[in-house]
Amino acid sequence: MSAADQLTQHGHDVIVLEGRDRVGGRIHTTTIAGVDVDAGATWVAPDHAAMHALIERLGGQTVPQFHTGKGIISFNGRRKPESLTALAPWVALDIARVMNKLQKIVDTLPMAEPWNHPKAAEYDAISLGEWLTSQRALKGTRKFIGMVSMVHWGAPVGDLSLLHALRYIKTLGGLEHMLAVEGGDQQDRILGTTHSLVTRFAETLGDRIIVDAPVRRITTDGDSVTIEAGNETVHARRVIVTASPAHRAAIEYTPALPDHHYGLARSWRLGALSKAFVAYDRPFWRDEGLSGEAVSDDDAVFLTFDVSPSPEGPGILMVFCDARGFDAYDQEDRSRRVIRHLMHLYGNRASRIIGYEDFSWGNDNFAPGGPNPAVAPKAWTTFGPYLREPVGLVHWAGTETADQFSGTMNGAILSGQRAATEVDNLLTGR
Ligand SMILES: Cc1cc2nc3c(=O)[nH]c(=O)nc-3n(C[C@H](O)[C@H](O)[C@H](O)COP(=O)(O)OP(=O)(O)OC[C@H]3O[C@@H](n4cnc5c(N)ncnc54)[C@H](O)[C@@H]3O)c2cc1C
Repeated sequence: MSAADQLTQHGHDVIVLEGRDRVGGRIHTTTIAGVDVDAGATWVAPDHAAMHALIERLGGQTVPQFHTGKGIISFNGRRKPESLTALAPWVALDIARVMNKLQKIVDTLPMAEPWNHPKAAEYDAISLGEWLTSQRALKGTRKFIGMVSMVHWGAPVGDLSLLHALRYIKTLGGLEHMLAVEGGDQQDRILGTTHSLVTRFAETLGDRIIVDAPVRRITTDGDSVTIEAGNETVHARRVIVTASPAHRAAIEYTPALPDHHYGLARSWRLGALSKAFVAYDRPFWRDEGLSGEAVSDDDAVFLTFDVSPSPEGPGILMVFCDARGFDAYDQEDRSRRVIRHLMHLYGNRASRIIGYEDFSWGNDNFAPGGPNPAVAPKAWTTFGPYLREPVGLVHWAGTETADQFSGTMNGAILSGQRAATEVDNLLTGR
């Protein structure tokens, strides 16, 4: 939509073809206890300038993520109502040591074209997990970094290339920024959910957006491109594909894309992340001085946040769940597992729920997985250069193609604007 928006402002005729019956992709709303909550993307960081510009333009408003009080850490079933410093001191020290080491390598990486780093092949040859082993990371450190990996890439540390992790951390502004609430990536939410903003954005494009139009074929013939999508056939001078790289290959291209584009699609597989929301009459944990933030190594629940609309209630916990110990169960089982673990974290009061909802991105159409790709070892150095290189009249956008804030909504906007500039320059001969 940001590509379409910019091209429309530059006087071009644009059509947006969306496969789902709604706009927003990985931004989606679900409702619990009468309150709309973010099933997908939630937070906006202070340095997400493109997002803030959009929020301001569309009359949106941010609210700070609730962050007052103590967090909870629960590893190996031992629950401690404290911050990271409550971990065994040697584990806390080891986490700091490993994070420093990681950040030092990140600092050497270029923002764009990470495959040109002198040690790119070395970093891309191993997984983040293998690197942790080489650093003799303690078990607790592996668990902590593993939780970061699950929430950002929806995959365990063994599944993704070290170079991918480094590049991602770089584009987000560093590890500390990535993990922080105040001043960091979890600082603010959008009042009324992110999707309400997306809906307003879509209204500015009006009937240029066609939903229920899954693109199945893109045919290039001379200087024209034909897109077949649902019941629509669109003839255009250029096309921007914004599906996540893993899903580009679900479209048939004539002529076929060069081989490495199919390799790229195979290696940029999306992870899998699920979210549950549990509602109470009030955010009762606040009475005990708890922030509602918890980190845990349970096989289903690994992170919670307080997204209650007000101190009077309802109290709502947003719960990040490991798809591997979650998606295969039916909803009754899933809710039982989540509530049981919330009782471990927040006490018996956590059983008195007034609502439960969840959303498994791994079961979603058009972007199954989420939140971001867990790019396999060796993929960046092999396929990275093709991530956004146009193929004839076909251009590529989407958050994965952004050099800054890749993996965030802000990155998605920037990538759309970059692709729009690319196309505009070609169409106007600039
Ligand atoms: C659970 C979760 C939590 C997240 N939390 C945050 C957060 O707190 N902050 C943040 O900034 N980001 C977060 N993200 C990431 C953020 O949602 C994405 O980075 C961003 O929304 C990606 O936008 P995009 O347009 O690049 O891709 P998408 O949102 O995936 O959009 C691609 C679109 O293409 C459509 N499509 C795919 N294939 C076809 C086809 N063949 N034909 C037609 N249409 C097709 C899809 O339906 C989709 O609408 C989160 C994501 C998830 C899943």
